[in-house]
Amino acid sequence: MKNVRRYIRTDLVNHIGSLWQTDEFRNAHNDPNSPIRKCVDAVANKGPLWFYDMSDPIERTQFSSWWRHVQTRHYDIPAVTDLYYYHELTHIANHRNSNYKCELLSEDEWDGSVYEEEMIASLESEVFVYWYFPTLRAKTFPFEIWADRFQAPTEKLESAKWDIREARVKIFREPNFDDPIEMSIHKYNNQNMIWCNYWRGVSREINDKLRWIELHCDGLWVDTINPKALEQFEQFIAENTTEGVVFRKQTRLFHEYTKGTIITAFKG
Ligand SMILES: [Zn+2]
Repeated sequence: MKNVRRYIRTDLVNHIGSLWQTDEFRNAHNDPNSPIRKCVDAVANKGPLWFYDMSDPIERTQFSSWWRHVQTRHYDIPAVTDLYYYHELTHIANHRNSNYKCELLSEDEWDGSVYEEEMIASLESEVFVYWYFPTLRAKTFPFEIWADRFQAPTEKLESAKWDIREARVKIFREPNFDDPIEMSIHKYNNQNMIWCNYWRGVSREINDKLRWIELHCDGLWVDTINPKALEQFEQFIAENTTEGVVFRKQTRLFHEYTKGTIITAFKG
């Protein structure tokens, strides 16, 4: 982790606005009613985000958005960069563990929340985003993706989303072994379980610190956050950083596990 920059409230919203590479996301960012902007606002209302550049390749599969640290990335295909950031922001907007209104989750409950969060972020950035922006698909992957199998609904959006969710759950449970797309989704879900195994042991500590910071940052309070709260959170991150990598042990273990395997292009 290097070049760490902290953004809060209006600066954060503007910084995210500067990251978008396509007109679809740029225009949506400026539309308060778009799902994209609603997601950005939800993130900004929960507190600051830290953006950083990777200093070690093992950080790529770390999923540090969990503790509000987002890796800066640029993909060769501009629209894929947008999908990456939208995926990460959806994670953060829906991150339940850090909500101080909830009880701190047990380790088992935490596992469940990770799967749920990944489901929401994946369906948004891999399927629903093409429903929001019919022109986007031509700008992303030059091969068949799972979203190509579904028509964008003309009505009853929420119920259509639920149908897609059920189709996804079916792939987790009983994929078609002859279907490479279903198998890659299935494999990614299995990787998620392994990731939980490595990170479960530190989950309560991280979530506890996140709950505390969000207690100082909820909604309108973000503007008046005590800088000391931010400094203490940054100190917690620094104390758990070894050779530039936060939670190096967990990060390295999962990296070793995924080495040589291909996960979806922008997954986070
Ligand atoms: Zn994810």
